[in-house]
Amino acid sequence: MRLMTPGELTVEAITAEVNPEACTVCGICARVCPYNAIQFDKHSGQPAKVVTAACSGCGTCSAECPSHAIEMHHFTDAQLTAQIDAILSEDAINRIPVFACNWCSYAGADFAGVSRLQYPPNARLIRTMCSGRVREDFVWHAFEKGAPVVLVSGCHIGDCHYIDANHWTEKRLKRMWKKMEKLGIRKERLQLEWVSAAEGNRFRDVMEEMEELRKSVTPEEVAETIKLMEKQRKKIKSKTKKKEEKAEKHS
Ligand code: SF4
Ligand code: SF4
Repeated sequence: MRLMTPGELTVEAITAEVNPEACTVCGICARVCPYNAIQFDKHSGQPAKVVTAACSGCGTCSAECPSHAIEMHHFTDAQLTAQIDAILSEDAINRIPVFACNWCSYAGADFAGVSRLQYPPNARLIRTMCSGRVREDFVWHAFEKGAPVVLVSGCHIGDCHYIDANHWTEKRLKRMWKKMEKLGIRKERLQLEWVSAAEGNRFRDVMEEMEELRKSVTPEEVAETIKLMEKQRKKIKSKTKKKEEKAEKHS
């Protein structure tokens, strides 16, 4: 947020917006927002509301909302999902989808490029403003579409452009590794790495490691994961439907 002249306020174009119809008044978004930009009072029973002037657009609230009730302007779920689909539409087994935060990892990849450092050409970057924006669903979707490995990458802990939003990324990934273990998916296939804008060499090294990891994943392993992901998706869909039906009955 920047104050330009008295009475004039400029805000980020990339901000969050709550769909009040979908909000289940859980309060998670308010808890994770590094900027206290979400108005929420559980006693009021009212849906959460984003104070646009205070929102910096990290996307953490959107990633953590269990009800898909928060959308990010300009970096919508549909746009990011379409990018994942495009990357994995052909020869998915040879691709490395990389979620890279705008300020550090994406810039680190750029730096590797301008420094003419060679890194595996099959890496495909999906830019998000913050690693905190990477919803679990994006990663599951990538695995369902046949990704052999997935990398989530952001600013080093302590250097997050959005105060401490990447702490939530770390927590989320830990949660996801547990789920992967439970489902019988090798958790190594999902990696989390911190790469700063000045670390072109580190970006190259991480991508070389990702390529080695990718080579270790067999087509059978990918096929098995696709089946598991489809099963999970159907399970969640039927659970959501039951919940909605129950809510309708009580309304
Ligand atoms: S996390 Fe989602 S469902 Fe929960 S209060 Fe915020 S917007 Fe509503
Ligand atoms: S978590 Fe990030 S995107 Fe969400 S309201 Fe706060 S600053 Fe905005």
